[in-house]
Amino acid sequence: MTVDNKRIRMSNVIIQSENDDRKYRYISLDNGLRALLISDLKEGESVVDEDVESDEESEEEEVEDHGMEMDDQSDEEVDENIANSQQMERKSAAALCIGVGSFCNPDNIPGFAHFLEHMVFMGSSKYPGENELDDFISTRGGDTNAWTDTEKTCFYFGVEQKYFYRALDRFANFFISPLFKEDAVDREIEAVDSEFQMNLTDDNSRASQLFSLLARENHVMRMFMIGNAETLRETPKKHGLNIYSKLKDFYQRLYSAQYMTLAVYSKDTLDRMETHVKDIFSSVPNNNLPRPVFDSHKEPFPDISFHKIIKVLPVNNVHKMWVSWACPPVGDLYRTKPLDILDALITHEGKGSILSLLKKKTWAVGLEGNMSYDGFDFNSTWSWFLFSIKLTPEGFSHYREVLVIVFEYLRMLRENFESLTAFYEEQKLIAKTNFRWREKIDPLEYVEKVAENMHFFSEEDVLTGRSQFYQYDEKMVKSFLDFMTPEHCNVTLMAKELEELCTLEEKYYKVKYCMEDFDEKLMLNLQSVQNNLELHFPEPNQHYIGKALIYLQNRVFVPNYPVLLKEDAFIKMWYKKDNKFCVPKGYIHIHLMSPVTYKTLENATMFDIYINLLTQILNEVTYSAVMADLDFSIDGHKTGMEIIMDGFSHKLPELLKAVMHEVFNLTTTEKFYQAICTELKKSYHNTMLKTDELCRSVRFAVLEPVQWTCAEKYLVVDSLSEDFVKFMNFVKEFQSKLFIEAFVTGNFTLEDAVSYADIMKSHMSGEVVPHDQQFKLLLREVPKSSYYCQQYSHNLSDANSTLTTLQS
Ligand SMILES: [Zn+2]
Repeated sequence: MTVDNKRIRMSNVIIQSENDDRKYRYISLDNGLRALLISDLKEGESVVDEDVESDEESEEEEVEDHGMEMDDQSDEEVDENIANSQQMERKSAAALCIGVGSFCNPDNIPGFAHFLEHMVFMGSSKYPGENELDDFISTRGGDTNAWTDTEKTCFYFGVEQKYFYRALDRFANFFISPLFKEDAVDREIEAVDSEFQMNLTDDNSRASQLFSLLARENHVMRMFMIGNAETLRETPKKHGLNIYSKLKDFYQRLYSAQYMTLAVYSKDTLDRMETHVKDIFSSVPNNNLPRPVFDSHKEPFPDISFHKIIKVLPVNNVHKMWVSWACPPVGDLYRTKPLDILDALITHEGKGSILSLLKKKTWAVGLEGNMSYDGFDFNSTWSWFLFSIKLTPEGFSHYREVLVIVFEYLRMLRENFESLTAFYEEQKLIAKTNFRWREKIDPLEYVEKVAENMHFFSEEDVLTGRSQFYQYDEKMVKSFLDFMTPEHCNVTLMAKELEELCTLEEKYYKVKYCMEDFDEKLMLNLQSVQNNLELHFPEPNQHYIGKALIYLQNRVFVPNYPVLLKEDAFIKMWYKKDNKFCVPKGYIHIHLMSPVTYKTLENATMFDIYINLLTQILNEVTYSAVMADLDFSIDGHKTGMEIIMDGFSHKLPELLKAVMHEVFNLTTTEKFYQAICTELKKSYHNTMLKTDELCRSVRFAVLEPVQWTCAEKYLVVDSLSEDFVKFMNFVKEFQSKLFIEAFVTGNFTLEDAVSYADIMKSHMSGEVVPHDQQFKLLLREVPKSSYYCQQYSHNLSDANSTLTTLQS
């Protein structure tokens, strides 16, 4: 019997968070399948009886997927959220992850592994009905899904406990004896094709596909992974190839028990779970063949092809630059995480960072990394160390100087290499603290992650491997940093301005592009960078790291519902002390309501600019808080500004002060204001290209008497960009006419909550806004009858469409 356990060290001890009261058991079945059982049964809780209803009937209503996000939550949505969270508490889930994926595609059938993943779901000998599992689960309020990656294929579902084992049996039978019904072939090819079609408008997927052109001949990274109707139907047909006949062989070679990991989450005892899992999954066949592996396919991207400047014509109006290196695989280095630590520095947004300097020059408004441990970018053949810079049009025209700044920063890191030890220790402490207080997530999401983790991490690290920094490996970090030179670097530029240069077309996504060598002058500039005093290591993050504590639970009665703590002419504040989760965390929700935000089209547009400016400025000011896992968001609504922050409760007041200070003391320059206007104009344009956003906008226009669409805002943003004074006057007017509604909850005392109300009020002007001047959300009553409204997509080459229905 072959068992695939190259990376697995058996230890019987799984490191789990002290905040995690679930019980875990790692087992191996005789057929080689490994399973992690997760019992969420609490002390004193009894096991839910299984529902014994016949399979045909079902009492539960299907829970619909909400396709769109609403500006403001309706009461129904709030009720639904409560219902969902109650459902989450009762939910059981399972995920099965197979250690093979698209890398195993036959050379002549791109997308075949993905297609197989679809076909497996089409009935089994024991449950022959097509979509049997899907029907069983969705009519009982559960979910099921699957995905195929380069070296993993994962299937998962979640449903209420009382239906769980019956669903699990249906699920397992896909891997015991699938039927592969021939009449499902066409439909599933269409399903794969529509997933491909959805990717067609995504500029990141399009540009990524170009990298497969840079891989060595015959290397698995050269493949088109996802597949489409062309590769799965038309081309095979032309060559007289019957793909249906290949399904069974392919399945037998790849879907074998010893390549499988299973995570099962249930409100049941571990013993009972073990019995069920053994009963159900022991029949999954083992083909006694070693798992197809690709770790001998090293260095897919030789410098000669990777070291290029790729210019791409994007679908959206963006100015983007990717800077990347094709590094060795890092899967086995998860305990030291050398690339994660370099990524945390390069994508830092605080003072001294690359982004901070680029913003000062109004050359960029965002910089983000791409760290993960799976997929196209991270697999056993390579790691794609990539960061993406969101440039302004001016930054785009200076992209060579932007690159110089990137290499100046890398030089600074090399020259101050000893400071990396302290930074690593800081990241380690933050990750450890977060893990110590980690809260439960949705069981479905949890099993999906755990089943995948079981392929990467040792048994004891299966819950910690992805997030924790275990030990610093100076040599390893240095070797990666030394690799990040101009000679190994790839630069990919995306902008509409590149259209004329992009004369080539990629085969599958039809991406227009061209490739150039780095010219000598640019290389010389990058190789000879000097110290730039504006770039430096992040300041130590002591400010937001500290010992978390929980206020001793007051034995007096804590109400189950929020109480109105304060109400006057300026503020209405609700408060709820947490007495359930008992973690040192808190949540502050502030709604700054103003009658001016939506009064006119210009106001609504200026309000968008205000929100975007604030977000940009606050990202830098509060980045150390965000690094320490405190979180905040600022959103604009018709009624005003919504600020949400959450994280460790003892540090939230500092974040609250910093955010409120910036909201009321906006510090910006006219040049940066104009750059934000330009970015916003692009974003209005890109939003209107998306069919779901367009549909949403039309729906609001039908329903709401006052509604300014992106298209309308797009038309006025240029003229506003020329009038900085007008904008600053608008901001003053907003700040002077406010009513605050707030909710404070979590690990806060009543005195804490009162003091937060004081922080919020301290910035207010003292002008009372009469209630009748507040913006009221009004809806039109749709007359009873049937109507339809049809709107063509603005992107005529986009094959996707969106449908929304309203019922009164
Ligand atoms: Zn799919």
